[in-house]
Formats: sequence, structure tokens, C-alpha cells
Amino acid sequence: MDISEFQYMIWKTYRHHDEKRGLMKTYKWLVSEVEELGRALSKNNIDNIKEELADVLAWLSSVANLLKMDLEEVCIARYGAGCPKCRYIPCRCTYREKP
Ligand SMILES: [Zn+2]
Repeated sequence: MDISEFQYMIWKTYRHHDEKRGLMKTYKWLVSEVEELGRALSKNNIDNIKEELADVLAWLSSVANLLKMDLEEVCIARYGAGCPKCRYIPCRCTYREKP
């Protein structure tokens, strides 16, 4: 299963809920799942980390679905040719600790 297929599966599974909830509430749910991933990482709970990684990708897919955007397509457009800033693989940009 590639990213587009996963996104389509999420659309088939949750479209009715996601459309009812709307874009910004779905985005806020994505943010809460990212925070749950952070808590799982802090506890180094491998089973929980796996679950939260999947949840983050599922909710990210829901956001992309509501925007009618293909997640795989936008990821390839941005990262498919390497780092979006320096264009190299591996990236040659100066290392940064924080965003
Ligand atoms: Zn770079």
C-alpha cells in the first residue's frame, strides 16, 4: 500500500465523519494525535508509538482529504528531488536543533 492508497482507504472509512467535523476541527484532532505521539515517545512505549504514528498519518490523510489534495503528490512535489532548500540527498543544509 502506498501513501495514496492509504489516504483513499482513510477517505472510504472516515469521509462521512470528517466532512461532518470539517477542516479545522479535523486539523485540531491531528494536532492532538501529534501530542499523543510525543507522550508515547517520552515514555518510550514501542506499542503506543506504533499506534500513534499510524494515528498521525491517518489524521493527516483526513486533513488532505478534506482539502481534496493527494498527500503522496504533494510530498513528492516537495521532497521528491531531495531537501526542498538545498536540493541534495542527503541534505547539505546547516544542522539546526529547532525549527
Ligand atoms: Zn538541505
